[in-house]
Amino acid sequence: MKIAILDRDGTLNQIGEEGFIASAEAWKAQPGALEAVAQLNRAGWHVVVATNQPGLGRGLFDVTELNAIHARMHRELAAAGARIDAIFYCPHPPDEECSCRKPGPALFAQIAERFGAEGHQLRVIGSCVAHLQAGAAVGARLFLVCTGASAGLPVDGDLPAGLPPGTRRFPDLAALVDALLGETPPPAPRP
Ligand SMILES: [Zn+2]
Repeated sequence: MKIAILDRDGTLNQIGEEGFIASAEAWKAQPGALEAVAQLNRAGWHVVVATNQPGLGRGLFDVTELNAIHARMHRELAAAGARIDAIFYCPHPPDEECSCRKPGPALFAQIAERFGAEGHQLRVIGSCVAHLQAGAAVGARLFLVCTGASAGLPVDGDLPAGLPPGTRRFPDLAALVDALLGETPPPAPRP
């Protein structure tokens, strides 16, 4: 079972000054990100997005606009030969204290259930600390990409505060996917 759970804002797409995007027009892929997803797909991976979208709960945009953002994301992925299997999101602002807002583990538990996977089989990939903390809560393997909210973080040395132990760091999604696919064991030799 190969399942990668990606963060959206800052990992797949660039983010504005506000740290989020509120319209389909504002959606712009991170360099190399779409091609990286296509590489994962070709290697047999399911790729799922899990994202906090508190702007919904705050009324900064509505579900129609969120659907338009995701329609554009799917179109641009398809044009690059890539596919996202599903998008799971939390619509709540922090003060609602829901269980689905990352770093809470509920979204990831739903994804594991949908795909019939155990938490430790999930690879959790993202640029924001809360995404990785949610992954840690379900026992996933953790990968930080230093784009978006983590742009400029060093990829070696001591782990920055807040990152769960065992988190591996990469400059961006493309570099991570190269490393991840390079780890795939070669086929067993013929007897
Ligand atoms: Zn929620």
